[in-house]
Amino acid sequence: MNDPAQNLRALSCADDYDPNSMPVAKAREVIARFLSPVTAAERLNVRAALGRVLAEDVISTLNVPAHDNSAMDGYAVRFADLKGDGEATLKVTGTAFAGAPFGSVVKAGECVRIMTGGVVPAGTDTIVMQEHVKAVQDRVTIGPGHRKGQNLRRAGEDLKVGQVALKRGLPLRPAEIGLISSLGIGEVTVYRRLRVAFFSTGDELVSIGTQPREGQIYDSNRYTLHGMLTRLGCEVLDMGVVRDDPKLLEQAFHDAAAAADVVITSGGVSVGEADFVKDLLGRLGEVVFWKIAMKPGRPLAYGKIGAAHFFGLPGNPVSVMVTFYQFVRDALLTLSGRDPVPPLPTFKVPCVSSLKKAPGRTEFQRGVLERDSHGTWSVRVTGEQGSGILRSMSEANCFIILPDAQGNVASGTLVEVQLMDGIV
Ligand code: AMP
Ligand code: MG
Repeated sequence: MNDPAQNLRALSCADDYDPNSMPVAKAREVIARFLSPVTAAERLNVRAALGRVLAEDVISTLNVPAHDNSAMDGYAVRFADLKGDGEATLKVTGTAFAGAPFGSVVKAGECVRIMTGGVVPAGTDTIVMQEHVKAVQDRVTIGPGHRKGQNLRRAGEDLKVGQVALKRGLPLRPAEIGLISSLGIGEVTVYRRLRVAFFSTGDELVSIGTQPREGQIYDSNRYTLHGMLTRLGCEVLDMGVVRDDPKLLEQAFHDAAAAADVVITSGGVSVGEADFVKDLLGRLGEVVFWKIAMKPGRPLAYGKIGAAHFFGLPGNPVSVMVTFYQFVRDALLTLSGRDPVPPLPTFKVPCVSSLKKAPGRTEFQRGVLERDSHGTWSVRVTGEQGSGILRSMSEANCFIILPDAQGNVASGTLVEVQLMDGIV
């Protein structure tokens, strides 16, 4: 269902929809209802496609491997020549090396010296490891205990002609780039990259290169966002800092929505005097605004301006990163054509810090997951957890996720951690 107005109506009728205290999972679920992935695709050379998302299945044009071949260095034999209860002596009539096949038929009483990857010669059906034979000049003697077909890699056992080698929606990592090349395919069809425009809002912000006056601060959110978006493979459009002025903001929203698939802003979504984002968006598009039951990152706006998706993130630097991780990442991957979208991995480890936590909202504390000299993993908190302390993100390698109902955490308790690596 991708009609925003219809979505909004359905939402406001739902029993558990409370925009003033929206649970994290519910907010994610609502966003997911609006998402319509890019459909435009382009053909790219396989190397240039690294990091892109497949827009079509890659169908195997070959059997991989192309021929039955040896998995060992040894001898290719006719199983019928071996004896179940004694030794058999065979004449070595040639070699089959990787890339240099034997080329003729092996007859009864004969065998061929074969190396790993060598094509199994016609007439033979079994490979005997070189450690299991006695070789004297051009004769080998082989004892009992072998199995017909042993040590063979069968033609097509990896992939058969016509089989789907890679599915639409997969991201192309080095493994996939290699797999595609192994099929002799030089070009792939991938989705175009998602275009994301972003700007910071706030009268107090200056960009690098300008000396801040009293009360002004450097804008960091645009730089963090630039990094996170680039890592997700998006095409980024940095629109700078926009003052807390409704006219300028309205223009910026229009420009951003016209240029991009997704618009991301930071700041101005609280309900302070200079927080215009919410009101403006209500006029310009279809907007869902929430106070999310989470810490940090409470206020978050999501919606559409024309065809563009919109995320209004909070202003605090840590809140920007947390809300990006928890809501924006999955949405951008879905919009980019990823299918399925893998969740960031979470698992439980003992927490060696005691944590302060009030029940009623999900907390994303910044943690350091580390291994002691015995190889045992534990997590500790990075220290001060204020939403303005970006150092807490820099020092962390994971979030410690404390669920809604959780109260204070005693040292030694198992907690859920979520790895950050790959976005921060
Ligand atoms: P706001 O949501 O606009 O009220 O901003 C909340 C806090 O985040 C304020 O202390 C802002 O100064 C700070 N902040 C907002 N935008 C940025 C930014 N782009 N870079 C660094 N800090 C910011
Ligand atoms: Mg502001």
